Amino acid sequence: MNHVKRAFKYRLYPSDAQAAELSRTFGCVRKVYNLALAARTEAWTRQERVNYNQTSAMLTAWKKTEELAYLNEVSSVPLQQTLRHLQTAFTNFFGKRARYPHFKSRRKSGKSAEYTTSGFRFRDGKLTLAKMPEPLDIVWSRPLSEGAKPSTVTVSQDAVGRWFVSLLCDDPSVTPLGASGNAVGIDVGLDHLLTLSTGEKVTNPRHERKDRVRLAKAQRNLAKKTRGSANRNKARHRVARIHARIADRRRDGLHKLTTRLVRENQTLVIEDLTVRTMVKNRTLSRAISDAAWSQFRSMLEYKAAWYGREVIAVDRWFPSSRLCSACGTVQDKMPLHVRTWTCDCGTTHDRDVNAAKNLLAAGRAVAACGAGVRPQRSTPGGQSAMKQEVSRHEP
Ligand SMILES: [Zn+2]
Repeated sequence: MNHVKRAFKYRLYPSDAQAAELSRTFGCVRKVYNLALAARTEAWTRQERVNYNQTSAMLTAWKKTEELAYLNEVSSVPLQQTLRHLQTAFTNFFGKRARYPHFKSRRKSGKSAEYTTSGFRFRDGKLTLAKMPEPLDIVWSRPLSEGAKPSTVTVSQDAVGRWFVSLLCDDPSVTPLGASGNAVGIDVGLDHLLTLSTGEKVTNPRHERKDRVRLAKAQRNLAKKTRGSANRNKARHRVARIHARIADRRRDGLHKLTTRLVRENQTLVIEDLTVRTMVKNRTLSRAISDAAWSQFRSMLEYKAAWYGREVIAVDRWFPSSRLCSACGTVQDKMPLHVRTWTCDCGTTHDRDVNAAKNLLAAGRAVAACGAGVRPQRSTPGGQSAMKQEVSRHEP
C-alpha cells in the first residue's frame, strides 16, 4: 500500500553541547553548499555542467585539505544532502522552473541540516543524531502517528533563535475517509477570514488584531534605527519575534479549521485568487490575510488529497457577490459597504454568505461539466462585473 508522506514539526531544546554541534553543522552545510555552487557557477561560465557525483567527489577532496579539514568533524550526511538539494535547485533552474540558485547566508535560510536514515537513530520514541551521544530533547506536542517511521529529519533554527526538528514520515494511519455527500463553498474576506455557504463565519484568530498593531509599531520603530547599530539589531529581533508568534497562532488555527472542513465535506469550493491580486495593495493587513489564505488553500488541498476529498477552485471573475443565489438575478451594483441586501425575488442575503453559496453552485457546475466557470463574462455586464470583483478584494 502506498503511504502518504507527512511532516511532523516540533520544538527542540538542545543541550549546550548539542547546540554547538548543530551550529557547527549548519556552518559546514553552508560552506559546502556555497563551495559547490561556486564550482558549478564557474563551470557554467565555461558552458560546462557539473553533476551531483562530481560535487560529491569535490567534497571528498575538500575534506583532505588543511583549510577545510574541519568538515570532517560533523556528520557527512547533511553535507551530502545539501549537495543533493543543490542538484535539485539546478535541475529546476535548467527546467526553467526556478531562478539560478543563490548562496546561503547565515542570516537567510542558512540554519538547517537534513539527515537521512544513516544520519540518525529513532528508537523507543527517542531521536539521536549522528555524532551525538545523547538523544535530543524534543517537545512532542502532538504524537507521531502509530507506526509512523521518519525517513528524513531536518533540524533548523529560526531568526528568533528557536530550534525545531521536522520528521518526514511514511504515515500508515492516513487513509481515505468514507465518502460524504456534503459540499461547501468558502469565501475569503477581510473582516471575516472565511465565510462558508452554510452561513458559518470564521473570524481571524483572537489575538491577531493586537498582534498586528504590535507588529506595525515594531516595524515603525525598526525603520527609525540607524543601520548597523545594536539598537537596530534589537528592533529587528523584536519584529521577527512578533512575526513568528503571529505565524504560529495562525498555523494552529488553520490546521484545526482545514482538518474539520475536510472531514465534514466531500467537495470544497474556493475562489481562485491569483498571485496578481495578491501583490497589489501590500498593506500590512493585506499581506497577512494573503499569507493566511495561501496557507489555508495549501493545507486544504493536501489534506483533501490524503482523505480522498475534492477541492475546486473557481475563476475569481465570477460575480459571486452580485448574483442572487436564490433566483440567479445579477444586481447591477454591489458597493463594498453593503453587507446585507434584498433581491427582487424577496430573498435577503448576507453578502459574504451569498457569495459562498454562489461559489458552491459554480463549483458544482465545474464538477459536473469539468469546464471553467465564467458564466457572466460574455454578457454586456461583463466588464463592470470584473471591476466590481476586483474592488471586492480591497480593504
Ligand atoms: Zn433573487
